[in-house]
Amino acid sequence: MTIHQAQHELIGNTPVVKVPSLSKLTGSNIYIKCESMNPGGSIKDRAAKQIIEDAVAEGKLKPGMTVVEGTAGNTGIGLSLVAKSMGMNAIAVMPKGQAIEKERMIELYGGQLKLVDAVPFSNENHFYHTARRMAEENPEKYFWANQFENLSNFRAHYLHTGPEIYEEFGENLDYFVSVAGTGGTIGGNSAYLKEKIPNLKVHLIDPDGSGLFSYMKNGEFKSNGKGSFTEGIGIMRLVANFAKAEVDEAFNLDDQYLYTVAKYVRDNDGIVLGTSSALNVTGAFHTALSATKDSNILTFMCDLGERSYSKMHNQEFLKSREIDTEREISFYM
Ligand code: PMP
Repeated sequence: MTIHQAQHELIGNTPVVKVPSLSKLTGSNIYIKCESMNPGGSIKDRAAKQIIEDAVAEGKLKPGMTVVEGTAGNTGIGLSLVAKSMGMNAIAVMPKGQAIEKERMIELYGGQLKLVDAVPFSNENHFYHTARRMAEENPEKYFWANQFENLSNFRAHYLHTGPEIYEEFGENLDYFVSVAGTGGTIGGNSAYLKEKIPNLKVHLIDPDGSGLFSYMKNGEFKSNGKGSFTEGIGIMRLVANFAKAEVDEAFNLDDQYLYTVAKYVRDNDGIVLGTSSALNVTGAFHTALSATKDSNILTFMCDLGERSYSKMHNQEFLKSREIDTEREISFYM
């Protein structure tokens, strides 16, 4: 075993595990790569590390400066952790109303939390614009991580996650399934894996309320008008990281479907999924239903399931969203 010299060195090299119950049901092999086992508990640790390392190497982030970012939470946790581990500080600008677990984790890891009202992207007070403005107004003090447009995010996956997957599966991977929040994950992994595995199919899974599904179908970012309890997932504009994704097919799946699958997996395998991981795993299940038997399908467990405790794993919350908690998975088969 390697002895690491600082916490950020623990990011990456995550294990892969089969989801036995869904694999048995569908006759294919559904695997999850456990990004929840990164030190900050999510896949966004990878982007945070690459963004900070690249910015230091390029001289954009200098000693004494603070990293600032607008985030739904997990990037803020990752940046807080990596910044501290490398002797720096981070500020996370977050919209109010995200899972309280993520706000607490940012503060726990020594990040400064700045909560703003949840407003549309067109509003200058949106968390994205607030973070950007802070850096623009004080460039000596702040470095803006800019996870949507900064291709270090893509590189985190092109240089590391993709090669890990190829090392794990070789060419024996039929489908790679992923959600998109900034597109860094699906961008970097799909670009790397398609170079290595020419027959690989990439499926994008989009929740209600996001514009990516319609963008993939007809080039227009249009929401279906419904809401979703997933957080940090879905985009309403073309951003640089998503633009690099190589997608074969896109699917829109609703919260009821992903809750039903997440419950089944929890009850049968003891795997507790967060909301975006539930969307990913439901996407993998949905893919398996129409795939040839024995297909190998990989997706991500993006973050710790306990981070969704107050929402997707909370009966009161589910009732308020009119989720039928008794629905059987056979409904979808
Ligand atoms: N899963 C979780 C839990 C996330 O927080 C995010 C990003 N907010 C994603 C998935 C999406 O990843 P990406 O930004 O690389 O598209």
